[in-house]
Amino acid sequence: MARTFKRGGVHPPEEKQLTERKPIETLPLPKRVVIPMAQCLGAPAEPTVKPKDAVKTGQRIGEPKGFVSTPVHASVSGVVKKVDLFPTAAGARSLCVEIESDGKDEWVEGVDLAGGDVDFAKPDAFLPALTDAGLVGMGGAAFPTHVKLKPPKDVKVDTLILNGAECEPYLTADHRLMVEHAAEIATGLQILAAVLGVERTFVGIEDNKPDAVAAMRKALAGVLGVEVVVCRTRYPQGAEKQLIQSITNREVPPGKLPMHVGCVVQNVGTAFAAFEAVARRKPLVERVLTVSGRAIREPKNLRVRVGTPLGDIVAFCGGTTDGLRKLIFGGPMMGKALRYEDVPVVKSTSGILFFDRQEAATVEEFSCIRCGRCLEACPQGLVPCDLGDLAEHGLYDKLADAMDCVECGSCQYACPARRLLVHLLRLGKSEFRRLQKKG
Ligand code: SF4
Ligand code: SF4
Repeated sequence: MARTFKRGGVHPPEEKQLTERKPIETLPLPKRVVIPMAQCLGAPAEPTVKPKDAVKTGQRIGEPKGFVSTPVHASVSGVVKKVDLFPTAAGARSLCVEIESDGKDEWVEGVDLAGGDVDFAKPDAFLPALTDAGLVGMGGAAFPTHVKLKPPKDVKVDTLILNGAECEPYLTADHRLMVEHAAEIATGLQILAAVLGVERTFVGIEDNKPDAVAAMRKALAGVLGVEVVVCRTRYPQGAEKQLIQSITNREVPPGKLPMHVGCVVQNVGTAFAAFEAVARRKPLVERVLTVSGRAIREPKNLRVRVGTPLGDIVAFCGGTTDGLRKLIFGGPMMGKALRYEDVPVVKSTSGILFFDRQEAATVEEFSCIRCGRCLEACPQGLVPCDLGDLAEHGLYDKLADAMDCVECGSCQYACPARRLLVHLLRLGKSEFRRLQKKG
């Protein structure tokens, strides 16, 4: 029977039929890329190139600043045009390196694009390779992978979980990656397990992707200590804490991290990137993402270079319809709605959604009717209506409980009053953190 988490959760329409059977296509090389230095949940990288410098694909163009930071690489060969502030999907102008492609896609020395062998007798080489490749969590969180793989000495990790749940509606990039590249993901899983030194590994996949389950089971047949677990299709099945509970029955206590219950969770896209980093010495300069929604003419799963401007993707997908009302980077539940601007794809862009009027339908917010549906929907056992009230009234010091919110959006989805609970919770959390820092 499909496993699931204990509390809360919602069932938004899946809307995956637009792309789930479409094989991954590769976007033609962009003529120019704009590569943000801030691409991980840590310190932005520092640019190491200047205008007029010639660069090769895979060359480092940004050095990490500190341990919780990742290097950034050129995603095309060509010439640096600018090192300047550009609009990005993060919502603000941020420091980027603009490169004009020479169309040759000449890779930096050492990269072996056809490589596939991994020497498991030398696992000590894995972590430096993953760190050099600039890997981040590719499910959307963008936490530096090398940091997650190096828990503090007093924390004992015994379990690695590969997250193939892809519970966000519309998104099918992880699904297609598992169907089309199961063998590479399986090797990536073993690389990550070797770095962590764990012998117990799982792959969690929702039961709406039976072909991905079959592909991963086939690829992992005969590998000891690995189980492909079928999880019930229920949002937010792919949230780390919920996936851990579904698969191991362990509950991450409030204020703690997955490693405190002995678990590390990595996305299947990250496992694929880990394979490429070790077997091919290839830095993270491209990713697979889903382009979908009813206001894009040809929804697709696409392999795209990091830094590719949105306009190139829209053109390759046949353009938008006149009905475009909303643009979202990420999934509809946790992604970010943006003003239409030619912003670049980053390492953590799992999807780009183009919604028409019906999909974007926003009903006016009205007052809380104390129905309790948000409580029932919250997988973290919180009281979202009360936390929302506290944030609305600026009582940020009373929001300690909100720190356990995973920002999944289930409460907001369930709320008949259409209260913008996630916005309030995000605001409340950041203000609470600020007050804590002030002491
Ligand atoms: S309060 Fe946070 S964790 Fe709970 S449902 Fe809302 S967004 Fe999700
Ligand atoms: S679901 Fe909405 S209306 Fe109902 S209690 Fe929660 S915030 Fe209030």
